[in-house]
This record gives sequence, C-alpha cells and structure tokens, in this order.
Amino acid sequence: MIDESGAGLPAYGMSAERVLGEIRELRGLDRPTHGGRLFAYVYDPGVAGLDELAAAAYAESAHVNGLDPTAFPSLLAMENALVGAAGRLLGGGPGTSAPEVVGSITSGGTESLILAVKAARDARPEIDVPRVVVPASAHAAFAKAAHYLRVELDPVRLDPITLRPAVADMATAIRPETVLVVCSAPSYAHGVVDPVEQIAQVAAAAGVRCHVDACFGGWTLPYLRRLGVPVPAFDFTVPGVTSISVDLHKYAYAPKGVSVLLHRDPGLRAPQYFAYADWPGYTMVNPVISSTRSGGPIAAAYATLRHLGDDGYLELTRRTWTAVRELADAVRGVDGLRLVAEPESTVVCLTSTDPDLDLFVLVDELTALGWHTQPQLAYAGLPRSVHLTVTAAVAPRAAEFGPILADAAAAARAHGPVVLPPELLALAGSLTPERLTPELVGGLADGLGLAGRPGPPERMAVVNTLLDAAPVRLRERLLVEFVGLLQRPTW
Ligand SMILES: *Cc1c(COP(=O)(O)O)cnc(C)c1O
Repeated sequence: MIDESGAGLPAYGMSAERVLGEIRELRGLDRPTHGGRLFAYVYDPGVAGLDELAAAAYAESAHVNGLDPTAFPSLLAMENALVGAAGRLLGGGPGTSAPEVVGSITSGGTESLILAVKAARDARPEIDVPRVVVPASAHAAFAKAAHYLRVELDPVRLDPITLRPAVADMATAIRPETVLVVCSAPSYAHGVVDPVEQIAQVAAAAGVRCHVDACFGGWTLPYLRRLGVPVPAFDFTVPGVTSISVDLHKYAYAPKGVSVLLHRDPGLRAPQYFAYADWPGYTMVNPVISSTRSGGPIAAAYATLRHLGDDGYLELTRRTWTAVRELADAVRGVDGLRLVAEPESTVVCLTSTDPDLDLFVLVDELTALGWHTQPQLAYAGLPRSVHLTVTAAVAPRAAEFGPILADAAAAARAHGPVVLPPELLALAGSLTPERLTPELVGGLADGLGLAGRPGPPERMAVVNTLLDAAPVRLRERLLVEFVGLLQRPTW
C-alpha cells in the first residue's frame, strides 16, 4: 500500500475535511504566528476578527487576475486606494509638496526594491555598468536586486556607534555611474533611521534618484511621530526623495504578499514598466515583476486598512511603542546584556557584553521558553546581536519578558558558550566556497543535526556559531547548501 499522506497528488481525491486536517497538523510544526511571542517574520496586531475579515476578503478576490486592469477594475480600484493611502501617509498627495505621487502594488518589500533599482537603472540607459550606493545596513534585497539586474552595489560603512552611514561617505560614494542612492527608515537589523534629509540632498545635488526603504517602518514612523516620539523627516516632505517602499504585510498588518512602491511623479515611475507587443499573444504591460497576479492579497490588504482605519493604526502603534519600551527596559535589567541602539522605532536589538553569556545559546533558551527571537551574525566589526521585531500583539505580554529574559540568561550562563571543535573552527575559517563539496556539506549537516527531520533543529546555537565563524561568502554558500538539502520533493 502506498501511504498517500505525504504525496501531493493522491490517486483518489480526499475530503475537504481531511485535507484541511492535514494542513492543520503540518501547521502545528510552525512557530506561533499569534500571541506576541514571535519577534520576526510575522506581524500581529492582536485585533479580534481581523484574520477572519482578511481571509474573507482574500477569498472574494483570490481568482481575480491583476494582469489586466481593464478586465478586473475591482483590483485597479483597490490598488489605487492602497497607493493613495500609502502616498498620503508618507507625505504625498493633493495639497502637499509631492502632489503627483504614484505607485504600484507589489508582492513584497523585495519586489518593491528590485523595481526601484530597475526604474533607476532603466532611466539611465547610457550607463554601461550602473551603480547603487547603499548604507551597509541596507536590506539584503538591494544586493539581490543588484545581482538580478546586473547593477553594482557600493556599500557605505556604518559608524559603529550610531549604526548610520556618514553623509560625507555617502556623498563620496556617488560616482558618475550611480543611478540610485538608498537610505532606510528604519534599517531592519537595528531599527535606526538614516539621515534621510542629508542623504537625499547629496543625491539631488548629484542629480541621482534617492530611494527611502520604509518597507519596515513606513506604516509606524508617521504614527510614532503623532504620538510624540522624535522621528526625523524621511518621506516625500524631504526634497530629493524620489521613491519610497512600504510593506503592507508588515505594520499595516495585511496578510503576506503585499507592498507598495511609490514614486514622486509618473515620469520617475515610467521606466519601471515593461510592455511587449512583439509576439502573437495578448499585448502585455506589467508594472511589476509578476504578470498574472492574484487579487487575494490586494483585497485582504484593502479590507485590513479600511477596517483598522487611521485611528486604529495610531492605537496599535501606541501599544507597540509601550511594548518596545518595556522590552528595552527588560534588556537594561539583565547583567551582561545591552541594547545595540536606543530604540527609535519598533525594533529592539540587543547584544552580550559577557563572554560567558553566549547570545546564540540565549536565543535557544528563549525558544525553549516559548519566546522566538532572531539571531544576527557578527558583521564588519559589529557584534552578533538578537533582533526583536515588536508588534502590537506583544503589548499584553511585554511585562513577562523581563523575568523570561533573566531566566534565559541564567540558563545560557549555566549552559556555557558554544565551543566548536577546533578542527571545525579551523575549517570554517579556512574553507573557500569553491572547496565546499556536497559530501562535506552532507557531513556537516549530519553532524549539526540538520538532516532527516521536518523543520529546523530545536537548538541552533552550534549552527549559528559555525556560520558566525565563517567569512561572508562561505556563510552564503553554507546557507544555500543547507536549504538545498531541506528542499527535496516528497514522492
Ligand atoms: C522586510 C524588509 C524588506 C524586504 O521585504 P520582504 O517583504 O521580506 O521581501 C526590505 N527592506 C526592509 C527595511 C525590510 O524590513
């Protein structure tokens, strides 16, 4: 008998009930998306009924195709409303200094950034090797965009104290071939806002576009400012800012698959489009990377925005900020831990000052206690750190975090730091990506407990320590090989 439970296409169709039962069972393996104890990947407002509303809206439009706005004007209307909402929130629209803001709905922050780079590249067709200047803290998606689009990236070093680039260094990095200058509001890793006004000014002086990556913070910074938190100017009110990205599937609390890319005017957006009529099929015009696009995420985002409203987001941001301050206090209260930066947005980032308190072990201990945080490897002189994306759902639980963190730190001290076998350390330090064979990777994966089980191992400290010890290019290769091992078909 063939066991059909794991096969994608069983010989005989199964009941809806059984199929859903399977999915629910699989979901049991996942980290908890709700409940305020997962500090990465998910954004939970903790609003009763919102999931159900978004799911119903999603279902309503799941089969509608964004490929052709004339065939499905419902999607066009919802997209225009979403772009209008984002544009308004970020300093554009009628009566502002950026009255002609336009935009597109994309599938996520990465797609928004790839398209911002593409628009900038294609606006300057005379440049053979276009270049993009980014602070070293810019999101990895810019590197992906550069890789996909054959554009060169010029990363600018960070000041190790402020975690921002010096404006003078950004200015120096701009060359005749530069097509785009980037800043973050805020950076994902540390949650700090770059000096957007000054960077946009040097970009404008050089005649270069300036993109503000507000994928993470675009939907909270304006509300934080209204709550009295000091937030520097970062949006279209800043002259020289030509485009802004903001992810609706982050702090607008929409289900996954929706981001907005805004441009100051239609002329700046034009080179983002792709149109093609030189084939026998339908004439094609795509504003974004995908051609066929589900209406589901767009309708779900539309429902979410309209249901929460401006007052709803203000209140959710107020709760989030309360939680941020409580978590930051918790970090300050534990000996051997310190904040990497004073929180100025919705990120809490901490590091260890005590060699006996291994951050990667701390992350495992927190996981064991049901609190899921995100380890960040040491990079370019910055220490390893732990990242917490804070959302409104954290607020009711924030008071628990102090004692939990203290317990986890005590457990991590008792456990002691991860000590890699010297041969493994030597290997990590000396191996070049080219010398990494499938056998070596298989052996490593076995040794690290990464093979032959569903999902990642419970304790990741050893894996993280190994990655931490490896140079950047080797880290990348190891990651690719490890995930390649996980992604194997079930037959
Ligand atoms: C999340 C994020 C991105 C990438 O967004 P995805 O939706 O994961 O593709 C880009 N920039 C910043 C600052 C982000 O936080």
